[in-house]
Amino acid sequence: MVARHDQTADPVLLEGLLQARRGTAFFARKLNELTDAELDGDSLLPGWTRRHVVAHVGYNARAVARLVEWAATGVETPMYPSVEVRNHEIDFGATLSPIALRNLFDHSAVHLNVEWRDLPADNWHHKVKTVQGRTVPAEETVWMRTREVWVHAVDLDNGATFKDIPEPVLERLLTDIAGAWHARSTDKDLVVEVTGQPNPLTLGDTTAASPTVVSGSLPAIAQWATGRGTDGTTAQRDGESTTPALPAPAWI
Ligand code: ZN
Repeated sequence: MVARHDQTADPVLLEGLLQARRGTAFFARKLNELTDAELDGDSLLPGWTRRHVVAHVGYNARAVARLVEWAATGVETPMYPSVEVRNHEIDFGATLSPIALRNLFDHSAVHLNVEWRDLPADNWHHKVKTVQGRTVPAEETVWMRTREVWVHAVDLDNGATFKDIPEPVLERLLTDIAGAWHARSTDKDLVVEVTGQPNPLTLGDTTAASPTVVSGSLPAIAQWATGRGTDGTTAQRDGESTTPALPAPAWI
């Protein structure tokens, strides 16, 4: 069945799809602002040029689309056959001509959007498996893609900042990261405070006796927590100011 409108009427899901589509448009805008020669420049991610970022975002759309197809057909199609294949694909993609690289981004984004649009309402609850091995409902594919397009637009390093990312996206990103830190126990003695919000957000090891408290605005904290920089953040421990340690970059 070919539909011209989303098949789901779930307002939360429709809002999520809107953020994913806005993020895709935002990434496309930043990509279009780069000349072909500028694609050779460094991204914010260690060891990756902008070409790697564009290739990764393109192949990510194809991988996410495979999960949506899985939810649509019931035929198991993983995101990637293996992590090695994923990494090899990115290295290969980075060698494509500028026009091929731009087409990869455009076509994969359009294809993913068609898969989402045509997915019947009930199939959004069908279970699929992420590359990390988590079993999630197909709904989760929307968030998986949303964080990729918004954060990697910043990684292109041609003017986009975390201030460009919508607050609900930043909040969910931060909650994800805090959850991952907690699961790995890397948040010991670390408290993260988001300031300037109507509802202040405090994450991390909130029961620690004398934690290091890292604080800043939502965009600054999200930038720091994803390992993209410490601007706009401060750290305090026992009343002394320190420089916040920068976590390892997330989602390379
Ligand atoms: Zn990524």
